[in-house]
Amino acid sequence: MRARLLHAPIAAPGLLHSLRGLLSRDSTRALNAEEREDLALAQLRATRPIVSGVLLCGAVLLAITALFDMAGVTPSIGYPVWSQLLASALVAGCAAGVSRMVNWQHRLVLMLLATLLTGIFMSMPLPGATGQLALRTGLFQLLPLALMALMVRPVSLLALALLIVVMALLRIALYGAPGTGSALYWLYTLTTIGFGLVLAGYRTDFAVSAWQMRRRLVRQAHTDELTGLLNRNGWNEHAVSAHARAVAAGVPVVVAVLDIDYFKRINDHHGHDGGDLVLQRLGDIMRARVGANGCAARIGGEEFAVLLEGEDARAARAFAERVRSEFGKEQGGVVTTLSAGIAEHRAGESLRDQMRRADQALYDAKREGRDRVHVAAAS
Ligand code: GH3
Ligand code: MG
Ligand code: MG
Repeated sequence: MRARLLHAPIAAPGLLHSLRGLLSRDSTRALNAEEREDLALAQLRATRPIVSGVLLCGAVLLAITALFDMAGVTPSIGYPVWSQLLASALVAGCAAGVSRMVNWQHRLVLMLLATLLTGIFMSMPLPGATGQLALRTGLFQLLPLALMALMVRPVSLLALALLIVVMALLRIALYGAPGTGSALYWLYTLTTIGFGLVLAGYRTDFAVSAWQMRRRLVRQAHTDELTGLLNRNGWNEHAVSAHARAVAAGVPVVVAVLDIDYFKRINDHHGHDGGDLVLQRLGDIMRARVGANGCAARIGGEEFAVLLEGEDARAARAFAERVRSEFGKEQGGVVTTLSAGIAEHRAGESLRDQMRRADQALYDAKREGRDRVHVAAAS
């Protein structure tokens, strides 16, 4: 049914497009579950101050209408001033809570509570009280409209829309519609919800594109363009955190530094482009061999590094020897070799110091004639 609606001939393209947009966002459809979760978390973090700000506006509105009541400048809707001020303080408390909250369920509860309190004290008169409510109701509706635009989870969006409908129903059942009549009141309420949905959809689109752009930039900043491996930046970020993770978990962690032998000669004989192809080939071999618990990077011109989590020097040597032997196979008339240095982690050692020992082992391998793997002494 929905599919038929979405593919029906377009009689009113703008309206149909909006409807389709409301049902499912093009911008999020291509994301997998993990990416959606990451995106939702980013949005929850980013919208904290503004959701809190909107709730605070509700608290301020309640306080101002209480003061108007007290001063007698507007007709009262029957609540004692102290109860209005108490409601205002509670809503301000919800705003303060939301400003620090990432858990979306807790945030939803506070937001619904604040909306309910503001709605009751702004536009539901105490039985028997008569006030001119049209403007008060209008002021209140601004709050859920702004909140809907800021909702991240569809469940929260629906919960808020449902609360608005239930409050309108209660309002009409208990006290009758505002002076303009129930038809206009419903039109007004549904317009609030409709605009809220549209704004929420477009805000989500902006959030998705900003999130994607940020991910793209981070990926670019961390990736070596030539080989597709991590670059030095990416290595510093990923290897440092993998190293810290392994040390904290008490599992071994080993690093290897690999350097192409006489690479300058390769450049001299085959040109810079020929040299680049050799670098790419080594990148491909390393990527294919590194496995899920390792991270590989090109940390300099013809210098590469690998960190293997949960592995010892034996595994690192096996890895380096396999890469060395594959890389050593003649390709297109170019014969290449590499040397590698390996260092296991010593208690209390930083990644930087461990790399320094791997570098020293690499230097030893070069000194001993190149085309070999050298492991640094364990202690
Ligand atoms: P060794 O066996 O002692 O490592 O000698 P080597 O010639 O490999 O070492 P050296 O450090 O003297 O030379 C590295 C060369 O790598 C110099 C530089 O021109 C080249 N190089 C650095 N980055 C790139 C690159 O991105 N592409 C190409 N084609 N060459 C590069
Ligand atoms: Mg070299
Ligand atoms: Mg070098």
